[in-house]
Amino acid sequence: MSDFDVDLFVIGAGSGGVRAARIAANHGARVTIAEEYRVGGTCVIRGCVPKKLLVYAARYADEFEDAAGYGWTLQKPEFNWSTLIANKDLEIDRLERAYVANLERSKVNIVRSRAVIEDAHRIRLVATGEVVRAKTILIATGGWPSHGADIAGVEHVISSNEVFDLKELPKRIVIQGGGYIAVEFAGVFRGLGSEVTLVYRGDNILRGFDDDVREHLRAEMEKRGIRVLTRKLVEAVEKVDHGLCVSLSDHEMVMADQVLFATGRRPNVSGLGLERAGVQLNEKGAIKIDKFSRTSVPNIYAVGDVTDRVNLTPVAIREGHAFADTVFGGKEVIVDHSDIPTAVFSEPEVGVIGLTEMEARSRYARVDIYKSSFRALKMTLAARDTRCFFKLVVDGDSDRVLGCHIVGADAGEMIQLVGIAIKMNATKADFDRVMAVHPTAAEELVTMRTKAATYVREAAE
Ligand SMILES: Cc1cc2nc3c(=O)[nH]c(=O)nc-3n(C[C@H](O)[C@H](O)[C@H](O)COP(=O)(O)OP(=O)(O)OC[C@H]3O[C@@H](n4cnc5c(N)ncnc54)[C@H](O)[C@@H]3O)c2cc1C
Repeated sequence: MSDFDVDLFVIGAGSGGVRAARIAANHGARVTIAEEYRVGGTCVIRGCVPKKLLVYAARYADEFEDAAGYGWTLQKPEFNWSTLIANKDLEIDRLERAYVANLERSKVNIVRSRAVIEDAHRIRLVATGEVVRAKTILIATGGWPSHGADIAGVEHVISSNEVFDLKELPKRIVIQGGGYIAVEFAGVFRGLGSEVTLVYRGDNILRGFDDDVREHLRAEMEKRGIRVLTRKLVEAVEKVDHGLCVSLSDHEMVMADQVLFATGRRPNVSGLGLERAGVQLNEKGAIKIDKFSRTSVPNIYAVGDVTDRVNLTPVAIREGHAFADTVFGGKEVIVDHSDIPTAVFSEPEVGVIGLTEMEARSRYARVDIYKSSFRALKMTLAARDTRCFFKLVVDGDSDRVLGCHIVGADAGEMIQLVGIAIKMNATKADFDRVMAVHPTAAEELVTMRTKAATYVREAAE
């Protein structure tokens, strides 16, 4: 008889934990997974999926307007927030049931409880007090919204955790943050008709993205009526008769019905008992792991946002799968974190992969830039003032495409496909050999012939 109750105990049934549990069980391991909130985790319950549903909802506003130029006469459309939220909830419930069914089909034991670590092999279930002895532990507890420094009236501020369950659509909303979650919600609320003020302490939104993308998206957001205030902070929020009075660092006051902070997420390690097992954190407060997701304790592993590598669902899933194959499948797998395609479901959408222009210029001796900004055909009859943006960053010596940056409708769909070419080390000549699909916006990817710029780095002394 084994000294352990289970071969694997997974803490957290989100993207990474669920995948790891199922694959390990399919490899023959006895697996228990603990979830303190809802099976599916952030992505399914209060992240990617509900957010994309809200993005779809918001985009109908433009479609209704644009239809007029194509000959349609519509009655004034009316939007009902409660219907949207109720339908979204039904879909999330359905997805949660599907996740549970998939785990059960793989014979994973699900416990609905917070789990805390007692030592390197023992986990306590907070709901019952039961202690489970596990040969291997996987920590997949994700991240948690962080509001930053405390401000007066922070109790009136919501995070992305609460935004999906608001009882009413706010007529006015202040969103603090400049990352992808902040700009996505700015687009959602503007599309649904709210007055939106985006407040960000940095120079421009989407830090870390290509500068042209940042400028283009900001201009497009402003054209849509979103007030983008940079180099400013929310300093206090006060409840007054007719809403919330938001004081900014430049002494401006903005009135709002909701204040959403999307100011980053921290690894979810608080109260987990890591110190009792000797699991070390890195300087950013994330669980320290090696290339196989093994922590400083040999039988304890960690995947997903709690390790703060690249905080995206497909990455957490890959890391969970690789862990299970490595530890239970007899096949060592290392996840490749380079050139990850990603989308921002802003309005308009952003899709990017690979190096920004500045990153390429700091790493490569010669960099060629191709870029193009134009009005998509659909927008002509719609008479909508919006432009797409395409940019390729190319190694001037090898001709390899190092980065691709797109702003415009369906950029997320496009970048998934461009990602395949870039992972295969496609050159600009390879792109150019492909026949254009006409008339599309994506054809720009294979028709940009003229370099916008070439940068040659001075030889190092
Ligand atoms: C608003 C928003 C939008 C996003 N949009 C996208 C997107 O469009 N595309 C994308 O790729 N990514 C997106 N993400 C990021 C994505 O959701 C995360 O990267 C992904 O969910 C990480 O998976 P994970 O397994 O690490 O953690 P999670 O999915 O967060 O799962 C962790 C789980 O652990 C549980 N848990 C925590 N502690 C304990 C404990 N002690 N005991 C038991 N259970 C515990 C939690 O309740 C949670 O269910 C978004 C995130 C947010 C917040």
